[in-house]
Parts: sequence; structure tokens; C-alpha cells
Amino acid sequence: MTARRRAVVVVCDSLAADLVRPDTAPSLSAMRAQSADFVAARSVFPSTTRTSSASMATGCLPGAHGLLGNTMVLKEDGRLVRMSVGKPDFLDRLRRATGQTLRRPTWAERLADHGGAIVMSNVSPGAAYLQDPDSFGHVYHRSGSRGPGGELLDDGLPIEVGAAGDAAMTERFCREVLRERAPALAVLWLSEPDHTAHHTALGSPEHLAMIAHADACVQQVRSTVDALDPDGEEILLVVCSDHGMETVGRQIDLDELLLATGWKNSPQSSDVVVAPNGNAALLYFADSKRVDIPPLAQWLQDQDFAGRVVWGDALAELGLPTDGPLGIALALRHDTAANPHGVRGRSVSVLSPFSNSSLPGCGQHGGLGAHEQQPFLYLRGGGLRPGERGQPASLIDIAPTVLHHLGVAADGMQGRVLR
Ligand SMILES: [Zn+2]
Repeated sequence: MTARRRAVVVVCDSLAADLVRPDTAPSLSAMRAQSADFVAARSVFPSTTRTSSASMATGCLPGAHGLLGNTMVLKEDGRLVRMSVGKPDFLDRLRRATGQTLRRPTWAERLADHGGAIVMSNVSPGAAYLQDPDSFGHVYHRSGSRGPGGELLDDGLPIEVGAAGDAAMTERFCREVLRERAPALAVLWLSEPDHTAHHTALGSPEHLAMIAHADACVQQVRSTVDALDPDGEEILLVVCSDHGMETVGRQIDLDELLLATGWKNSPQSSDVVVAPNGNAALLYFADSKRVDIPPLAQWLQDQDFAGRVVWGDALAELGLPTDGPLGIALALRHDTAANPHGVRGRSVSVLSPFSNSSLPGCGQHGGLGAHEQQPFLYLRGGGLRPGERGQPASLIDIAPTVLHHLGVAADGMQGRVLR
């Protein structure tokens, strides 16, 4: 039989590296011992799921692929309008506003003529479709499943977000995608422990149960891969998270604060528009208001909720664009305080009109806190020697590494091949 190389990627959404332990996640811990463990792996900014999904798929930072958060601001009819990237119609609005979706090709596009890509995702529709926004491969999601050319698929994914849906999706992924269809790239994106952690305390029994659940899903994939490739040479197995989480210390209403201090004229004003992204916020400016960027950045930096405030050319240091309406990036203040369950990492977060989860005491992400920026990243098989790797690594390195394993060009990607 001719060996055909494949890659399998499993994402345990929001599972921070330091919560993968033998007592919380026995299968992941066992897999770590067999894998190249990139202990310095970091998320992108904002550390939100939709940004992460686009960065994983393109091997590029947000400034290059253009997807700047879970909430984004687009110019519609000459006005800056904020919207949730999670909604099923977001990609159509992005296309109308900018003439395209992501500005860089995804791994699904690059693999269209090289064995194809199949994605099964149980997170938001936005994050799922950003894996392959222009439908070069297959994306299965509860909001609608699409094949090449955007064809709506009859065999959808009728599941609900959460553990039961993740379990059903994983079973189908192993049986149908890995064993029967065998694409060059297969991606499984679990909704837990993220879904539960936005509503409960990190390290609580409910949260630990969801880590154990994700661990069991990974075990199912790992044993399927073992059966298909006992020597571990053909299949590169990547198991990771997109980001970790911080405990919300307090929430601020940035819209209200900007109104109260006169930086914004009215709630409906489109001169200065805040895009809340959990523990971060991005501020967009109409051309006539860009003169306010330096003084507003200084004002923000002086507030007790501010962590890092970045504007102008320095936005590029965070991987953000410097050529559009984005004016200021605000990462909220964070520290290493432990919550009642002993889980470290606490951040201020920003209220969002699009989400009522992540109240104080619950988990949240989006910013630059040490714990939300610390995903785990294990690579097994494909000739990679097991052991810890201390080199810098990022979500954007996954796609070039996968394409390298598959023998497909990764030109134009900002990430590097991990070895
Ligand atoms: Zn996520």
C-alpha cells in the first residue's frame, strides 16, 4: 500500500496549558509524553476564538488575514458599524464591505487539489466558517454544512453546543472522516471546556468535568489515529487549544465611559466605535475623528482598568493592521491572583452587547494575560521527536507545519514550520 500523508488537528477550545495535568486530563497528559510539546506556544491578539480560527487556517496574524476579533467594525453605507463575527451572515457582510473574506488563503484552499480538508466544529458559526470561508473543502456545523463551491450538504451536523454535541461529533469524525473519507487535513474543534467556562469558575467541578470530557474526545481521536497509522509516520496529529482563560475580576462598560467623558457624542455615533473582545477592546475611528487617537490612547492608559494601550504604528507589534479604521487596541489590566479554586490569572473585561456570559468570577479571554495567552500545543507523529520544545511558537505555526508534512507549499504564511 502506498503511504499517503495526512494531518489531523484537534482543538480543545479555551483549555490553558497548565490545566492539562494527569489528574485533570489523563489522555492529554499521556499524549504529551509521546509528543513534541511546545511549552512556549502563544495565542494571537485578540485571543478570541474567531481570530484564532482565522490565524490557524491562514498561518497569518490578524493584521494580514483581516479578521480582528469576535466583534468587528465594518464600514457599511459610509458608517462604522460593529457586529458579531459569530453570526452566520457575518461573512456575507464582510464580503460586501471589503470585497473578500479573509485576505490570505486558508489551508482548505491550499489543499483543495491535494487531498482536501474536512472541518467539523461545534463552536460559533463564525469561528467554524472562518476555517474555510470560501468553501474549498467541507465544513460541518450545526448552523449549516457546506461542501466545495458552497454546496449545502444534506448530511449536516445536527448537534448542540456543549459536551453531548462534542461527543456525537467526535464519534462521527473518527468513523466517517478519519476512517472512511481520509482527507489530507481533518480538523475537529470541540466547544468544551470553553462553553462551560464562560458560565462558571475555572477549576470548579463543572469546569473540570468539561476538561475530562474534552480529554475523552481526544482519546478517541488518538486511538483511531493509532489504529490507522501504528508506526506514527503518515499521520501528523496536532492537539492544541486556541487560547486559555482568565477569571473575570470586574467588567467595564467602555461605551458608557466614553460617553460620560465626552470622547463619544452619542450611543449611536459612528465616529468612535468600540469593538469589545472579552479581555480586550479595539477602537475604530472615522477619518474625521482620527485626531482623537493620541489623546484618547493617553486617557485610556491613565485608567485603572488599562493593561496595555497600543496605537499608531505600534499596532503592528500586536499583529494588527495599521492601514484601516482601527485606531487603538486596549488589553485590559490583568494579574496572577488565584480564584477560589486555585486557578491563577485574573483580568478586567469589557461588556459586550453581543454576549451575556463571562460575568465576574467566570472564565474569559481576548487579552494579553499570561493564562489566556497560554494554549497547549502537542505535535505527534510525522517524524517529530517527542520532548519539550522551548522555542517560540504560535497558532500561526500550525498551518505551515501541517502543509510541510503534507508536502504542500506554504508560501506567504507568516508562521514557521515547527520541528
Ligand atoms: Zn476559543
